[in-house]
Amino acid sequence: MTLRNGKEFLMIPGPTNVPDEVLRAMHRPAVDIYEGPLLRTTDACLAGLKRLFRTEGKPYIYISNGHGAWDAALSNTLSRGDKVLVLESGRFALGWGEAAAMSGIEVEVLPGNWRRPVDPAAVAARLTADTSHAIKAVLVVQIDTASGVLNDIRAIRAAIDAAGHPALFMVDCIASLGCVPFEMDAWGVDLALTGSQKGLMAPPGLAFIAAGPRALAAHKTAGLRNSYMDWTFRDGPEHYMKYCGTPPEHMLFAFNRAVELIEEEGLEAVWRRHRLLARATRAAVEVWGRAGTMDLNITVPEARSDSVTVILFNGVDPAPLRAFVKDVCGVTVGGTIGEIAGRGIRIGHMGHVNAAMLLGTLSALDLGLRHLGIPHGTGAVDAALACLTADLAASA
Ligand SMILES: *Cc1c(COP(=O)(O)O)cnc(C)c1O
Repeated sequence: MTLRNGKEFLMIPGPTNVPDEVLRAMHRPAVDIYEGPLLRTTDACLAGLKRLFRTEGKPYIYISNGHGAWDAALSNTLSRGDKVLVLESGRFALGWGEAAAMSGIEVEVLPGNWRRPVDPAAVAARLTADTSHAIKAVLVVQIDTASGVLNDIRAIRAAIDAAGHPALFMVDCIASLGCVPFEMDAWGVDLALTGSQKGLMAPPGLAFIAAGPRALAAHKTAGLRNSYMDWTFRDGPEHYMKYCGTPPEHMLFAFNRAVELIEEEGLEAVWRRHRLLARATRAAVEVWGRAGTMDLNITVPEARSDSVTVILFNGVDPAPLRAFVKDVCGVTVGGTIGEIAGRGIRIGHMGHVNAAMLLGTLSALDLGLRHLGIPHGTGAVDAALACLTADLAASA
């Protein structure tokens, strides 16, 4: 017996639901890459990226996923043998560090905890001890999709400044841009990167970098530069040079439409929507958790992300619950990865998500908990509704 026929919900932390309008924007013939409307599409995408990153820095578009943006960030600014400090708070900053190590960069991990954000005081202490300024860059994620943490980028910048350290500050915003506030210039971020397929509501396949003045200066002496990723080549006069070859036309049509949709809603309104849906999700999880079988993975309330909620199960296998909501209800939620693989679920609520989708997902999970006899606090969906009621009244 299933109740699955109907619109399927993809509630994983990327790739995310692509709006029909974005899909439709791709459904057109290929066009000339040397002149004509495609050049305007490129300009619109680049200008949109500056507004999304909130920067006067330089945006670059890559035909890649987020991993490619990691490599592009490193190869354009660093040299073999340089040292970087990776701030651990889950899986993804470590992954960026592993990419750096592959390129011959020396990687030091500032150990963190999967249940807490990066501690800015620990960053300040480590950088203060680096009196010779051997560390050339600090790498961090704003939201780690594996742990569900939101790191305080402004506070980490303040820690770097407090140490008087000149390292470049590079931030992975793959699971946060277009979901939560990010202010590249106001927060003193030297380089930020993201991908098309999470908060930005486009299909996977494009990655974006915004480079501030200090990153662009480092580029001039970077020894890891390579032809395809190179900013200098991409700054060249011909349109094709921006992509180091044929532009990914249909992806650009899609991304351009997605940026328009975000700006029609308003970036601040998008952030607010994410905040309200995330708060409702957390309210539900806290009620389920009263029976002791599950907890929000992140223990620090203000460091729980608004784009993904990671739930850690205690003594209960989450696999049957995930299978139930998928096979019976048509809702796909994520499993956990890395250090907590197999021990919980991840609910993605980023990008093209509305209240009905979120409440439907929570209801399907509630149904699954009942059906499978997994002990849980009752009234979780009611708690989510009460949370939304209060938040909507407060923001009216
Ligand atoms: C998804 C994700 C990545 C990896 O992006 P890919 O497009 O899968 O390469 C990196 N960092 C964070 C924070 C992510 O959420």
